Amino acid sequence: MAFVTTPSGKKLVTLIPGDGIGPECVESAKRIIEASGAKVEWEVRHAGESVFKQGIASGVPQETIESVCKTRVVLKGPLGTPVGYGEKSANVTLRKLFETYGNIRPVRELPGIKTPYSGRNIDLVVVRENVEDLYAGIEHMQTPGVAQCLKLISRKGCEKIVRLAFEFARSEGRKSVACASKSNIMKFTEGMLKRTFEEIAKEYPDIQSWHVIVDNCCHQLVKKPEQFDVIVTTNMNGDIMSDLTSALIGGLGFAPSANIGSDVAIFEAVHGSAPKYAGKNVINPTAVIMTGVMLLRHLGEFEAAQKMEHAVLHTLEQNAASGRGTGDIVGYDNPKCFKTSEYTDAIIANLGKRSEKWRVRDVKPIKLPQVSTAPDFVKATSRKTVGIDLHIESSLSADALGKSVAALLEGSPLLLKVVTNRGTKVYPATGAVTDCVDHYPCRLMMRDSNAELTEAQLADAVQRIAAKHRWSHIEKLQVFNDQPGYTKSQGED
Ligand code: NAP
Repeated sequence: MAFVTTPSGKKLVTLIPGDGIGPECVESAKRIIEASGAKVEWEVRHAGESVFKQGIASGVPQETIESVCKTRVVLKGPLGTPVGYGEKSANVTLRKLFETYGNIRPVRELPGIKTPYSGRNIDLVVVRENVEDLYAGIEHMQTPGVAQCLKLISRKGCEKIVRLAFEFARSEGRKSVACASKSNIMKFTEGMLKRTFEEIAKEYPDIQSWHVIVDNCCHQLVKKPEQFDVIVTTNMNGDIMSDLTSALIGGLGFAPSANIGSDVAIFEAVHGSAPKYAGKNVINPTAVIMTGVMLLRHLGEFEAAQKMEHAVLHTLEQNAASGRGTGDIVGYDNPKCFKTSEYTDAIIANLGKRSEKWRVRDVKPIKLPQVSTAPDFVKATSRKTVGIDLHIESSLSADALGKSVAALLEGSPLLLKVVTNRGTKVYPATGAVTDCVDHYPCRLMMRDSNAELTEAQLADAVQRIAAKHRWSHIEKLQVFNDQPGYTKSQGED
């Protein structure tokens, strides 16, 4: 990746202070980076709450987009997002705008940061897919009381994240990559990550690879975290799992992250804007400082990165000896509690000192995966449309609706095979007790199983049903390469 160099020979980085505690943490990291001797210059731009307030609904103004397009490297504070209502996350917008498809979230045991796991040498990294999955935020109200979120996972996205995980492991000299997925339940979406992982792992024989179901992965992470090195996973799994892993080593105040794309990289802490601490100069800036270390390595400033990491480790060792520390560690009311700025000063004073006991990895540049950008990344050799799932909003019972839809299809090449309710077969009746809602996907299949459904037949079937019932969503049932591209409902034979 080529960087923009200023006339004074420094690499230009877009700096987004962010919301809540963001400006304090980012200022701390910026001061230490500058003091480390790294050749970095900043272009300050904004995103998030201050931008929403200006009436820019995306939270990311054009001048910020232009700066990122130019510098291609960002150090960013957390951005606040209204929870459960209002504007979309400006974070997610930034990640998606610049296709930063991989989110690297390392955690390691740190000197003097006492946890129930102290002494077990936790040193692991969650590599989270960052632009697909439920976090694409494609949501639709299906009926006034039923919401839907689409979980889109692509083979291309899986190849990129899996290759990034293996390349990252190589760059840090790590020994194993585990893939955590929920492929036992979501066989197409989560299963795609597992299948891709198992294929690509063969290209990395020097690295041990294994699959673990994500719920067991969380169980194992709490029980025996030291068994993990790199974990690659889908977006939402990775988001939840990486908050868990940060708690294993002392909390969100210590968890850095990098959003990596082929063109742009955005560096930020895992934590959010923690509004209750905003402006108080009390929060722990270590996560953003260690994010700064990752940024420097990305810029090729390996020496300054080493220096910074050693200074952090040395400062934490000194804190352990003196009983001092940030409020999240020693308590905000403790007289030995560091102000954010004092802690930053202590790290700056320790630049050049080394930790004797705590290792700093010898990191090489990551070889970024080269994956085709073709939209039709996977082509089918054969395909056939064999039916549709038509989602109907109805207050009728499953039996009454099923009978009505079946009758409306008399004379159509399509017949009603099954009616489901939140994934469970409810018509024809199975004897199961299902508390139905007013959202009934009806599976219509060709009466002649050898025939292909035409567009005209599809439109005719929808028209017949729409004459009597309200429909909200239609899904084609397709067969690719002789394999059904749709799952059966729970209870369907
Ligand atoms: P949060 O801001 O991460 O804060 C949760 C808790 O974690 C805090 O109350 C605090 O715990 C602790 N914490 C976080 N950062 C800390 C630090 N640097 N030093 C010490 N303690 C720290 O999560 P949230 O409250 O769920 O989210 C707040 C806002 O941030 C939301 O609008 C959310 O959307 C946004 N957010 C943004 C990003 C991002 O920009 N990448 C990421 C996550 C969330 P105690 O209360 O126990 O002291």
